Amino acid sequence: MYEIDEVKYHRFKQKNNMLFRRLWDKSLSTYNQMLDTNLEKHIESKKDGYSRIDFALVAAGWTVYEKFPYAFTWEGKDLMDIGYGVNWMKSKHIIENRESFTKTIKKAAKLYGASLVGIADVNEKWIYKTGFIRPLQASEAEAKQEVRKGKAADSIYDQPIDLPNGINKVIVMAVEMDEDAISTAPTQPAAAASAIAYSKIAFIISCLGEFVRNLGYRAIQCGNDTALSIPLAIDAGLGALGRNGLLLTPELGPRVRICKIFTDLPLISDEPNQRFIEKIKNYCKNCSKCAEACENDAITKNENPTFTPTSISNNPGVKKYYVDVEKCFEFWVENSSDCGNCIMVCPFSKIKEFLSPSEFWNKT
Ligand code: SF4
Ligand code: SF4
Repeated sequence: MYEIDEVKYHRFKQKNNMLFRRLWDKSLSTYNQMLDTNLEKHIESKKDGYSRIDFALVAAGWTVYEKFPYAFTWEGKDLMDIGYGVNWMKSKHIIENRESFTKTIKKAAKLYGASLVGIADVNEKWIYKTGFIRPLQASEAEAKQEVRKGKAADSIYDQPIDLPNGINKVIVMAVEMDEDAISTAPTQPAAAASAIAYSKIAFIISCLGEFVRNLGYRAIQCGNDTALSIPLAIDAGLGALGRNGLLLTPELGPRVRICKIFTDLPLISDEPNQRFIEKIKNYCKNCSKCAEACENDAITKNENPTFTPTSISNNPGVKKYYVDVEKCFEFWVENSSDCGNCIMVCPFSKIKEFLSPSEFWNKT
């Protein structure tokens, strides 16, 4: 499934992710810059898809992700006493049939809003070696306030990440991003689709995490933190890695965002989707639509994947198409938002109609 060079591979340090690196790596042209750097300039330009309304839509789309305090918690302590007065963690729900119980968990995940769900065994390789650990009951915005201002000590991004003993399964979920909005990439309605998917993620993992704890088991609720989501999703049978560096799913291609819950529930793991992995391997070799659509040449057009990373923001040791995320982030700063071109053009995203931002707003 993967070609791994065990000598080169090491667990990723989250501080090397571009969203953290821009805070400490002075060699970057994007050092200390963020998506608001060029925002006023865009609004003044009156370009379609960059108005104050468009930017307001994006910022508001992040609301639940940024402001809900329990979204990314590792524990249930003092969280959701909804008035029943029940100590849910006092005993464990007895699971008589693991197969049917696994279906129950997947059903609950979909009811809470996940588009796709899979289960995998935890592979320690994919857990960050170090990263940013949020305070227990702080929202994303509160937890990262000092970090985002560049005032936090560098060591705060570099905490050892160790899952507690007994946490050996991961529920991986993908959340669809709106087709019409993504079709406007790289303009702001596309960024809003991404922001809204992140807020949906915060909602889904908050509810599913509580559901797991109400059954007496542990749940560690994660977005992009704690571990690499894409290999976990591949292990859980959700899809394959594309040339664009994203998870491609058979149902929605890369038009998804990923979240996960680590747990000690005795679930049955899914198998990786080998047929789809083979299909993508061959397809991406002969298709470079994402590379052609990338405004900053961040995606390689080379026919074959390699073991050669482009910077410390790539994790070496896995054979793949490495994306130059420094160039990608430069475009994000220029664009005042994430971009999504490489999602929009991928045939697996199955976008039927490509809209301009005005057409998006006028479509009923
Ligand atoms: S998000 Fe945009 S800039 Fe980044 S790799 Fe994809 S197409 Fe290129
Ligand atoms: S656009 Fe083509 S090359 Fe890029 S990820 Fe999608 S299928 Fe692969």
